[in-house]
Amino acid sequence: MIRPEALLAPDENGLYCPLGGFHIDPVRPVERALITHGHADHARSGHGAVLATAETLAIMAVRYGEDFAGTTQAATLGDVMRIGDVSVSFHPAGHVLGSAQIAVEGGGCRIVVSGDYKRRRDPTCLPFEPVPCDVFITEATFGLPVFRHPDDGDEIAKLLTSLAAFPERAHLVGAYALGKAQRVIKRLREAGYDETIYIHGALERLCALYEAEGITLGPLAPATLGNGRRGEAAAFAGAVVVGPPSAFADRWARRFPDPVPAFASGWMMIRQRAKQRGVELPLVISDHCDWDELTATIAELSPGEVWVTHGREEALVRWCALSGIRARPLHLVGYEDEGD
Ligand SMILES: [Zn+2]
Repeated sequence: MIRPEALLAPDENGLYCPLGGFHIDPVRPVERALITHGHADHARSGHGAVLATAETLAIMAVRYGEDFAGTTQAATLGDVMRIGDVSVSFHPAGHVLGSAQIAVEGGGCRIVVSGDYKRRRDPTCLPFEPVPCDVFITEATFGLPVFRHPDDGDEIAKLLTSLAAFPERAHLVGAYALGKAQRVIKRLREAGYDETIYIHGALERLCALYEAEGITLGPLAPATLGNGRRGEAAAFAGAVVVGPPSAFADRWARRFPDPVPAFASGWMMIRQRAKQRGVELPLVISDHCDWDELTATIAELSPGEVWVTHGREEALVRWCALSGIRARPLHLVGYEDEGD
């Protein structure tokens, strides 16, 4: 078996495969890019050629325009493709619509780049598929034992309880535009909430894309407050309004009647963060693994080696060492967990 580092190694643009002549999730424009998923820190525009799932390509087109890359090719999940001297295949990661792990195989060694992933049920994307490998590259966004995400059904129930308790207040739910927003909406529908849900303009095209991919989101309407006409704001009393977290800091949010600021994020585990953001109703809903899921995944895959990236590398590396699994941090720069 060749050294895994000869198959994939970080360079200034990201993770590079010299035998295949491509980068995975490069942070700067490169000749040939393989992309795990559509979050902005992984999927950037300006590459010569992009290979990704059809859903990820569609997400990139929505975000960057149709000409986001020189050429594009859709990867079918499970199909093995030959690129240069290596074989690559894409497998579901359970993170957001279209998200994939990328397996790279050459010289008798298989490395799985998981991108971002989670193990919980998510009605808006395919579940994570364990792929046996020699080296597993894992994220570590919530890679500390203190991070244990509660059941997302309980968090949705909290939102419904608050809606019932404060029928005159608009519930403003901050949620990342790709993945989290649609998951929160879909989970509300599963819980029986069938009122119109109002969405910020930044979510419109991505919600439409999810709908086009067969993920029904129920009645949605733009959360547009026109010219401040009298009585207009009252229309949002008792309504659910979903928008990107950035929108909640600006004037847009202050126009709603006596709003309940909520935020759906794994970081809402940390009370201090909720307080700093002025969040009254923290909803701990994450698109990443918590500590138990990270360690359970590594135990399940039992790879020869683990490389840990973007997040709390050290604790997970240490856990691997204590479990008898060779591990090291992989220092990649430029990833900021857009979709926590
Ligand atoms: Zn992501």
